[in-house]
Parts: sequence; C-alpha cells; structure tokens
Amino acid sequence: MRAAIFRGPGVVEVGERPDPVIEAPTDAIVRVVLACVCGSDLWYYRGESPHAEGSIGHEFIGVVEETGADVNTVAPGDLVVAPFIYSDMTCQHCLNGSTISCVQGGNFGNGTIDGGQGEAVRVPLAGSTLVPVPGSGHSDDTLRSILALSDVMSTGHHAATVAGVSKGDTVAVVGDGAVGLSAVLAAHRLGAERIIALSRHPQRQQLVREFGATDIVEARGDQANEAVLSLTGRVGVDAALECVGTDQSIATAFAVARPGSTVGIVGVPHGQVPFAQTFFRNVGFRGGPAPARIYIPGLLDDVLAGTINPGRVFDYEADLGHVADAYTAMDERRAIKSLIRVGSV
Ligand SMILES: [Zn+2]
Repeated sequence: MRAAIFRGPGVVEVGERPDPVIEAPTDAIVRVVLACVCGSDLWYYRGESPHAEGSIGHEFIGVVEETGADVNTVAPGDLVVAPFIYSDMTCQHCLNGSTISCVQGGNFGNGTIDGGQGEAVRVPLAGSTLVPVPGSGHSDDTLRSILALSDVMSTGHHAATVAGVSKGDTVAVVGDGAVGLSAVLAAHRLGAERIIALSRHPQRQQLVREFGATDIVEARGDQANEAVLSLTGRVGVDAALECVGTDQSIATAFAVARPGSTVGIVGVPHGQVPFAQTFFRNVGFRGGPAPARIYIPGLLDDVLAGTINPGRVFDYEADLGHVADAYTAMDERRAIKSLIRVGSV
C-alpha cells in the first residue's frame, strides 16, 4: 500500500509499506478515508523530537475492511474514528480514565505501527479503540469534523475539562493554533460565558470568534497578562487553557488564572510551571495528553447533531500523493492544520 514515510527531519514522502493484515484476533484493518498532520508531527519534521524512520500520522477516520475473531464492536463496512493511541479500556489506567497510559496501548504511526497517513491501518485492540460513526451519507464537512475528534478537538476539550470549565465561566485560551482554536470551541460548548482568546493572527481571529471567543487579546507576554487582568476587573479568569507549551505561554496562563482556579495544560511543555507563584495563589494545574477514546463519543454526538464543527480548523488540503506539501504548509505557517484526503467512504 501507499503511505507517508518519515525519512528524517524535513523529509516525509509517499512510499510503499506492506499491506496490513490481521495479526491478532483483536486487530482490525481500516481503509483510511481522511487523515491529517498533527502539530506534534511537525516536531519530528523539524527535528525537535526524535521519530523512527517509517510510518507516521496518528489521526484518521476510515472504513473497517476486516476484523479479527475477537472484535465485535465494529464490523466490516463501518465508518470509524480512531483516537490517536490504541487502548484496551480494561486495564486499571483505562478504567481510571487515563487511556494514554494503557498498559497494552501504543501509538499509531511510530515508525513501525501503521500510521494514519497511509491507505490502510492495522488497528491493534480495535474493539476497544475504534469508535463507530452512526448513520451514513455524511457530508464532507461532517467527515472533517469527525476527523478532528481523533486528536485536536479531544485535546482542546481536555484542556477545558481538566481546568473545570463550566457554565457561566470566564476562560482565557492561550494559543491560536489548531489546539487553541479547539479549546475555544470546547470552552464554549461547556457553557463558558466569556472566552478571551490570545490571538495575534488576523486570519485566525475570525474563526476564533465563530468558535465562541468574546474577546481577543493580540498582545504577548506581560502586555497580554495585563490585558486579560484588565478585562476581568483584575480578578483573573476562572480557567486558563494553555495550548502552546512555551515558557511565555505557560507564564501567561498562570498569570491570568484567578486565585483558586485551575490551569489546563495541553501544549506539550517546553517551559516550566512557576510553582511558588501558583502555590501562594492556590492555583492548580492539570493536563497532559487527552484520553481521546473517552471523549470521542460525546463530542461525536455533537458533531452529528451539527452543534460543533471542529473540522473548520483544517485550512489546507492535499491528497496522499502530496503529503509532503501538507507538512510544508504547516511548517511554513501557511496552514493552521493540513488535511490529507486518502480515500472515500
Ligand atoms: Zn488500558
């Protein structure tokens, strides 16, 4: 089959990988319909994080082609969405809601396990990993929004969830990349009344408003902190969602969080939490990789009901043959997030 192959920093190209086959009774083979490029794929692309040569991509939706003998929750012909890791949903970590730490789990597209950026994927633990999508004849817009649940929207939702966003809250979202945009949408969905988005890109501000932001702060650093405090009567926000991971964005999230609130962190940390400052203000923080498998069913209901449209974060599109362009567009910041069209439903 054809699939994206990570050759090393700066080089992702289409090549041949073995056609996936059922190797364990818990496997399924999924023919990929849509995939996309994650912000974390870019770290590998830029050489900022190591990645084995081989398969890449961990976000995809597709159609089940074949299932192993022990898979009974999905069947050939089903449209399915895959969370970005596979998990058994029966180990103690999965039962506690931390599917990312599943003792049997693993990552798609890690060089060896098939990636989403390819024509087909052998999905381990398929019965507990894949979420079937009810109905048929979904529009392309709906399919794009379902794809977003695989990682980016679940990650934005995680930031809002762990920060305890609830009805009537004032929320600040630090970061206007695809995760930050998704966090705005997630906070809006959870009933936040005021959402202050920190966004410096004019072309993203329109989408940030459509997703539910009520205020936009264009500054960074101390000026941004001051602007948010000023907007909140110097109290700070009920929840700050950190969706970047740099020293500056982490500092801002903690500076604008009101005493007694929780910062939700989903930007992969390249900076430090200011511990003493958080301690004396009773500010907590939670975060990490999202348990997407747990979030997908609830978010999927809202996508199918048409109440959220997280697929709007995709603003660049390529077919599998042009997967390199999908990376370049994001690397050069011409795209918020690239979609890769692989097959049809
Ligand atoms: Zn598990």
